[in-house]
Amino acid sequence: MINPAQVAENYERVRSEIVAIAGAQRAETIRIVAVTKTHGVEAAIAAAECGCDAIGENYAQEAVSKFTDTKPLPLHFIGHVQSNKVRSLAPIVDVWQTVDSAGLAREIAKRAPGAQVMLQVNISGEGSKSGCTPGEVEDLLALCVDLGVNATGLMTIAPLGAGSVATGQCFKSLRSLANTLGLADCAMGMSSDFTIAVAEGATVLRLGTVLFGAR
Ligand SMILES: *Cc1c(COP(=O)(O)O)cnc(C)c1O
Repeated sequence: MINPAQVAENYERVRSEIVAIAGAQRAETIRIVAVTKTHGVEAAIAAAECGCDAIGENYAQEAVSKFTDTKPLPLHFIGHVQSNKVRSLAPIVDVWQTVDSAGLAREIAKRAPGAQVMLQVNISGEGSKSGCTPGEVEDLLALCVDLGVNATGLMTIAPLGAGSVATGQCFKSLRSLANTLGLADCAMGMSSDFTIAVAEGATVLRLGTVLFGAR
């Protein structure tokens, strides 16, 4: 059950932690994507009411069934996207955070011309198979420019179970790669590691548990 007052309190606590790390001025520019997966539409409504910037979903079917009729905030798609799901997602997705292949970029350009995307990078090469390698990002970015897709930044997920040192190195590498490519956005940091992400230059956080409680 979602308790909107509790979500608002959690949001304020997260915001103060961000201010403590980043300072008030930079904290203003850091956006929070409230990850509503497994929760009902009421979680998205609570997120909108307390001031979150967007909602995030990682399963196509769940996102489409929840947000086709009402969508209280812009929607970031944060899960692996199969190309055959792009068509059904296009009407509801505002930011595609997980673009990691030329095929997917082409499909998004076709079904959602001019869409905003982020390029998912697998920094460590470990764990998840999602994400392109750091070496592939430049070509993928050039392709997005050719296709008229608006790539604003990079996205990564720290390796599962990595300690804070390895996580920090992963986020630092993503920030440095984004800077090299002239990209403003770094979407990194989840409930367990968002403070590290903020310290390393994140502009977009994806937060579920810390806002809504355990799933
Ligand atoms: C579920 C999920 C999150 C949020 O995870 P929490 O630990 O609950 O904050 C963030 N990013 C991705 C890609 C996810 O799938």
